[in-house]
Amino acid sequence: MKLSRYNFLKQYDDATIFFNATTCALAVVDENFLRVLEDVKNNSYDEKNYDAKLIADMKSSGCLIDDDVDELKRLEFYRNLAKYDATNLGLTIAPTLDCNFRCKYCFETHPKGKMTAETQAALIKFVEERLARAKNFSVTWYGGEPLLAEEIIYSLSEKFLELCEKFSVDYDAFIVTNASLLDEADVSLFKKYKIRGAQITIDGPKKIHDSRRRCVSEKSTFDKLIDRANLLLNENFSVIVQINIDKENISCVDELLDTLAERIDRRQDLKIDFGQVSPFTDICKSIESDCYNNAQFADVMLPLYEKVWARGFNVNKMAVYPSPRVNFCCADYVNSFVVDNHGELYRCWNHVGNLKMSGGNVSDEDLKLEKNYLSWIQWNPIKHPKCRECFCLPICIGGCPYLMRTSADGQPVCGTVKYNLEKVIEHYCEQLKGDVAD
Ligand code: SF4
Ligand code: SF4
Ligand code: SF4
Repeated sequence: MKLSRYNFLKQYDDATIFFNATTCALAVVDENFLRVLEDVKNNSYDEKNYDAKLIADMKSSGCLIDDDVDELKRLEFYRNLAKYDATNLGLTIAPTLDCNFRCKYCFETHPKGKMTAETQAALIKFVEERLARAKNFSVTWYGGEPLLAEEIIYSLSEKFLELCEKFSVDYDAFIVTNASLLDEADVSLFKKYKIRGAQITIDGPKKIHDSRRRCVSEKSTFDKLIDRANLLLNENFSVIVQINIDKENISCVDELLDTLAERIDRRQDLKIDFGQVSPFTDICKSIESDCYNNAQFADVMLPLYEKVWARGFNVNKMAVYPSPRVNFCCADYVNSFVVDNHGELYRCWNHVGNLKMSGGNVSDEDLKLEKNYLSWIQWNPIKHPKCRECFCLPICIGGCPYLMRTSADGQPVCGTVKYNLEKVIEHYCEQLKGDVAD
């Protein structure tokens, strides 16, 4: 037996806390645990000297590993297994890039136009060819504002469900929407077409929200969006309210959360997430000075989530507590694509509508998927000297590939987890101690 290179031990007040970055196991440990660690380090480990349950737990937590296991090679193995898995098909589909909002940080232009019938037919063919080998198919409806093209969402969904039935594939969908156009008819159709949840962005109290996320045709959408969140929650949809944070609106978070606490009917079911506003493209460069970088955002993030917990809302635990990851995002999977209204295929959500970054089109007879595709798929943080030596590799896996490609030095950009891991562990350690005391 040997010790994982991803073990973390720290004394917090009177407790010794253990965390392992390959499994994200967290525990308050005692002297028996520490004795095993010492014995392994001193080459005097002998399994029969310890409690069998303790050793089983230490193995399953990732703390103790077999001598012949190389953790970097193991990570690479599981990364490849997921990356090249053809049994999961994932599409992020923008049926239109048009939008009825003009958010101050939006990185998209909003050309008019919706996906044509020909492109829809080509997309269905593209999906059909891939479903023959798949077990799961998941779709995220995206835009622009996808509900400006709701008829396309529903007719494509109809076809997707038929194909999934034909190939016995599990289907599931989600929508990222500004929710201003969502009505009761959509709620019924979401049910019919297995759109199980929605992400709705509300950026601050009424005045702040309406000025940051300006609607072209309405003065204010704030009250309507709270209404729509309630409508979905009361029909048992999963709802995430995303609050996009920068230096301009961070001080308004309390006021917004108080309003939500007052007006959301089922607050324990609502998930609140904080997004980091970033000047992703030239289109939103003007907001750069208001944005936090990853290190700064890591500093403000946990106190923000503490405000959410304090008011009894739910959070997406993964947004705070690290989770083992072998791939960073959809850009990292061979069978995952972002599709725009012209049928252009991209790796990254930020490229939607940017023809220079297209890897091909669903209508291409001889779709090769090489340009703007292979170099993304072949990026391997495990081979990068900076990430290879990094304790956070199994929870950060090289960070956002888009940020790396657009960074001034072309190096991986460390995720927030690199900067606030200890604080997050400390926070959960308090919870753990509370649970033990209860
Ligand atoms: S709602 Fe979304 S797509 Fe529309 S302007 Fe705002 S950020 Fe951009
Ligand atoms: S590469 Fe980065 S920006 Fe693009 S989809 Fe992945 S996480 Fe998002
Ligand atoms: S990007 Fe930074 S934090 Fe992430 S694995 Fe690489 S070195 Fe570690």
